[in-house]
Amino acid sequence: MLEVRDLHVVYEDVILVCRGVSLSVPQHGIVALLGANGAGKTTTLRAITGLLDVHRGRITSGRVLIHDREITGADPARIVAAGVSQVMEGRRVFAGFTVEENLRAGAHTRKRAGVAAHLDRVYEMFPLLAQRRTQRAGLLSGGEQQMLAIGRALMAEPRYLLLDEPSLGLAPRVVEQIRDLIVRINEAGTGVLLIEQNAAMALSIATHGYVLEHGRIVLDAPAAELAANSDIQEFYLGLGAEGHVSLRDLKHYKRRKGWAA
Ligand code: ATP
Repeated sequence: MLEVRDLHVVYEDVILVCRGVSLSVPQHGIVALLGANGAGKTTTLRAITGLLDVHRGRITSGRVLIHDREITGADPARIVAAGVSQVMEGRRVFAGFTVEENLRAGAHTRKRAGVAAHLDRVYEMFPLLAQRRTQRAGLLSGGEQQMLAIGRALMAEPRYLLLDEPSLGLAPRVVEQIRDLIVRINEAGTGVLLIEQNAAMALSIATHGYVLEHGRIVLDAPAAELAANSDIQEFYLGLGAEGHVSLRDLKHYKRRKGWAA
């Protein structure tokens, strides 16, 4: 289990972003983390993977545990070695490197022995990357770059994979491919924490889901229950009586409902 307990995070020592976030990701599950822009989803991921420092953020209290082992605030490389890898928002591949060089870069925390065999396993999962192994990553399409970013994270053989908006800006057909891929990665034994604005996609494959608002978890339930929840439908699935409700309306809606801000 990957666990976050009562996490508080600040940026530049003043901006309190996570205000007591707790969540768990079982290794056999896919967990969705939903929330409007600025809710603190990316910050939660950065806190788990040790990447707050570079953004002038820090954990002020709370804990991050992997299989009961404390990794709170540890060095990013140690966290990867402990079994947690992240795919950042925006498919940050090394554009000037080939596909294979990008994948090999994902294995930098691992011993050399075994990397070639693992590369073969990743190519098996992504035949498209195998076909393009010598091509520069910058020439791939958006969907292919997303696959490469996921493949690179898998090169560290993580027990948990954290994905930040993998469907962002991709065509529906490509989103489906990414979704199927996430399911296969999970079936192969990797727990997934999935941040998505595309709640319909996330909840269609997740076992459990959390909704984050203003740095607090406001809903925590099995994914099927969240998908059936009328508030979630209205805001995150756009199925409400008022038609497609934008996330910007969330504040007004919450006030109307009397939810805490
Ligand atoms: P989005 O869906 O827009 O990516 P999010 O839920 O992932 O949103 P975060 O990126 O975690 O939200 O941001 C949460 C809040 O923290 C926002 O108000 C944002 O402006 C602020 N924030 C993020 N990074 C920094 C930073 N490096 N310094 C100061 N404030 C930051």
